[in-house]
Amino acid sequence: MNILVTGGAGYVGSHAVKRLLAAGHSVVVLDNLVYGHRAATGSTRLVEGDLADRALVEGLLTENAIEAVMHFAAYAYVGESVTDPAKYYQNNIVGTLSLLDAMVACDVKKLVFSSTCATYGVPNTVPIPEDHPQAPINPYGFTKLVIERAMADYRRAYGLSYAALRYFNASGAAADGSIGEDHKPETHLIPLVLDVALGKREHITIFGEDYPTPDGTCIRDYIHVDDLGDAHVAAIQKLGNSADGPTELRVNVGTGQGASVRQVIAACELATGKTIACVAGPRREGDPAKLVADPRGAERLLGWRARHTDINEIVASAWRWHGTHPDGYADR
Ligand code: UDP
Repeated sequence: MNILVTGGAGYVGSHAVKRLLAAGHSVVVLDNLVYGHRAATGSTRLVEGDLADRALVEGLLTENAIEAVMHFAAYAYVGESVTDPAKYYQNNIVGTLSLLDAMVACDVKKLVFSSTCATYGVPNTVPIPEDHPQAPINPYGFTKLVIERAMADYRRAYGLSYAALRYFNASGAAADGSIGEDHKPETHLIPLVLDVALGKREHITIFGEDYPTPDGTCIRDYIHVDDLGDAHVAAIQKLGNSADGPTELRVNVGTGQGASVRQVIAACELATGKTIACVAGPRREGDPAKLVADPRGAERLLGWRARHTDINEIVASAWRWHGTHPDGYADR
């Protein structure tokens, strides 16, 4: 298939592009490079531009005979979405609606969308199944939920086929070590702990040690970014039109296993051979104690399941990238 990948220079998008190419698809990347990295796209065609540029997007869709879109381009800092919601509403909602309208105008009917477990809010049951109520507790999660609803409406009205992939905690780096995670600023646990191992930070602050979990720290479902990429490939290949396949897929992308903050830090010590200095800090606002996917829907609907389920293995792959790229892509 000819696939337009928005945000294909970002962390998850760039890994998905590699998996798409390996599966024989042809890819054009659209990225404004605000957070993405040119080097993450390798030799794939990269068009630098904005999602909301309707003429640009329609031109790309028609000139490249695009058959499906994978839409990763979004802002994804939960804390920033609270302090600067306008940025999130504008890009994640207005920008995405412009993309949807361009697709409808150009008769491109298949879309795989990066959604998030943050759409569930504080879960009332864990592991979380896909039919769990969606009640996000921050603007970031809300912007993703709005697009899930918009896609359902566009499906009914305009015949869009879509998959909403609800990511848990994307982590790790490509098996061949060529690309990895480089957020500036970095807020995620694994790269921050690895920065301590590299001597770039003095310590890691543990956000709360009094949660109702076995070691008192938060539990998350860390999903390897290559597995995430494969889930996208499975979803795009599964989506049909009303005659030949599902036109609506809402799927958790996680391992079904949880690791606590303490367990992640221990995995980082194992991978790096360094002792990580830890400081106990207060809870971070809006952090549920435990977020773990019920992964059975993905297996049933996509025929996909995570291959990397061991936190030590996931962290080791992240370290292969961080240890060799201490400054990330070094492009800013
Ligand atoms: N965390 C932490 N210290 C940090 C960053 C994160 O203790 O400096 C915790 C955070 O509270 C959460 C887990 O690590 O329980 C994963 O956080 P991250 O920001 O990586 O992902 P999130 O779960 O927020 O999407």
